[in-house]
Amino acid sequence: MNSPLTSPPPKGASGPSFSELPLSPATLENLARLGYDAMTPIQAASLPLALAGHDLIAQARTGSGKTAAFALALLANLNPRRFAVQALVLCPTRELAEQVTQELRRLARAEDHIKVLTLCGGATMRPQLASLEHGAHIVVGTPGRLLDHLERGSLKLDALNTLVLDEADRMLDMGFHDDIAAVARQCPAQRQTLLFSATYPEGIAKLSAAFLRQPKEVKLAERPAATQIRQRFYEVREDERLHAVGLLLAHYRPVSTLAFCNTKQQCRDLVAVLRAQGFAAEELHGDLDQRERDQVLVRFANRSVSVLVASDIAARGLDIAQLEAVVNVDISPDPATHTHRIGRTGRMGEGGSADGWAFSLASLDEMGRVGAIEQALAFASEWQPLASLVPAAGGPLLPPMQTVQIVGGRKEKIRPGDVLGALTKDMGFAGAQIGKINVNEFSTYVAVAREIAPAVLKKLASGKVKGKTVKARLL
Ligand code: ADP
Ligand code: MG
Repeated sequence: MNSPLTSPPPKGASGPSFSELPLSPATLENLARLGYDAMTPIQAASLPLALAGHDLIAQARTGSGKTAAFALALLANLNPRRFAVQALVLCPTRELAEQVTQELRRLARAEDHIKVLTLCGGATMRPQLASLEHGAHIVVGTPGRLLDHLERGSLKLDALNTLVLDEADRMLDMGFHDDIAAVARQCPAQRQTLLFSATYPEGIAKLSAAFLRQPKEVKLAERPAATQIRQRFYEVREDERLHAVGLLLAHYRPVSTLAFCNTKQQCRDLVAVLRAQGFAAEELHGDLDQRERDQVLVRFANRSVSVLVASDIAARGLDIAQLEAVVNVDISPDPATHTHRIGRTGRMGEGGSADGWAFSLASLDEMGRVGAIEQALAFASEWQPLASLVPAAGGPLLPPMQTVQIVGGRKEKIRPGDVLGALTKDMGFAGAQIGKINVNEFSTYVAVAREIAPAVLKKLASGKVKGKTVKARLL
């Protein structure tokens, strides 16, 4: 699937130029074409080392441009004329693997015919086996499925020269340690290993000691630009906590909010409470199947869902843009996690014009955690009483858009332009009323202004897309 959640580029325009690196003119040209005018800080810190052939442990927050940092290094190691797997990228989830694959393809355009293959669990084996028979230069996948292929002998790594562990912290969180180790053991000893991570838990040190050779470490300060994120703290009793989230939403009326809970149960409870209050809330959790997960993410990104409730594990690594607010329903015991959570908001504006809110709900028991966060981030928390939260005018908070699902996607060769054309030219809707269009393999999701959603559905039922009648429904 196309990544439903895409960030604006990180602010790197003032950073050092890619031309300082030993990259081919074609690569530099391609970077310019992609609008990568300057390196982001993590790229500036890690690329010179990686391109010099060092193993690397690199840590920087989500959205900082880590993919290109390892992608340019592995592409530099690649011989396009040798048609064998030369680079392997391990990712924690299929979504992240797809995001990495897309970025790799964009960056690989400088060279002719570099084949990138995604191998993830949850997908059927047969097409993967067929693709592997055709061969690939780069494989991106999840540890379990890669191991499957290694054990079957369908994936061979004799020609491998670069191994990348992306989102290593999250892979460890998800219990992939042994699978990662098993995959790494099957890689040639002569190789470059690059480990990327958003945080640096203890397990990372162990993993790198086992599989990296004299790695260079690159860590970027986690502190987000304070001016862009406005933090407010509210003291709550336990029995007020979930209700307080609804109060925040009604008062501030953010269009898109990501609410973090420390436990799965709390995620579930919060969604139930918010829905009972009339909010469009969805939960992102590990038990969703891939299709459900894709749908939730698409609908959140296209502004058909007001609140996405997630645990840190479920949300980490997602490339999410346009968040007006983050709510810490609990205070994280780990200041780095807090920073990571609030770093999700307030990064859509150029020049700091679009600030984001970060709200934190803390019980008396959690004051010690708040203190630890204040110390780590060197700031003084600003507290507001819950009673200051009064519903703003405008009636219940509804998402501005609604999602229409059309049966049929890439398999049917549907493209976003086909759908937009059908809705605007053939059916007479205004372009401004149509939002994001995501074309997946078998489905297409169109965000339309809430007011016109029923009319869109009606017209689609009697009209055609790409000359064919289609089935559609409201999500
Ligand atoms: P991370 O892996 O650190 O979470 P990504 O690699 O997903 O971050 O990058 C986030 C976004 O920034 C992507 O949309 C990517 O295309 C874009 N990006 C990366 N590097 C640059 C750059 N140097 N200039 C402009 N945009 C960039
Ligand atoms: Mg990443």
